[in-house]
Amino acid sequence: MLYVTIMFYERIRMHPNKHIREALKYAEVQGWAFAKSHGHAYGRIRCCFRHSDCQMWIWSTPRNPEGHVRRIRKTVEACPGEDTYDS
Ligand SMILES: [Zn+2]
Repeated sequence: MLYVTIMFYERIRMHPNKHIREALKYAEVQGWAFAKSHGHAYGRIRCCFRHSDCQMWIWSTPRNPEGHVRRIRKTVEACPGEDTYDS
């Protein structure tokens, strides 16, 4: 289990785009998990509370990297946290 966690950790740091790497680190610090993908997406992030809205696909080479970074940060910031289970 620990091994898997370390693999994901390294996977975040291997992303080819520096700005996306930083956004992924930011998500990680907020307690988000990163899951590797088998398709052509780089992977997927999701919050630790498993809200249905709190997940996003991460691309290796998005057409608009800046927009992708903004969306990652916006998605992470939009997480309501653990207190809003009903909303
Ligand atoms: Zn959430």
